[in-house]
Amino acid sequence: MHHCQRIMCSVGSCIFNTPKDNLCTLEAIQVSAAAKSDSGAPYDETLCASYKSHQKKL
Ligand code: SF4
Repeated sequence: MHHCQRIMCSVGSCIFNTPKDNLCTLEAIQVSAAAKSDSGAPYDETLCASYKSHQKKL
């Protein structure tokens, strides 16, 4: 069954983001907890693992 879900996202530093529309261009993303995380805080437990920076890693 096909769903028309959209992924709203405001992470402008990601290559998959369209800041003008506040949207992710991917059809699906992976959300994962940060390594060694057990805090229960959303910023530790729900990172977007599909993120790719515009900047190359040094
Ligand atoms: S891959 Fe993740 S961080 Fe990047 S635009 Fe999509 S939802 Fe946002």
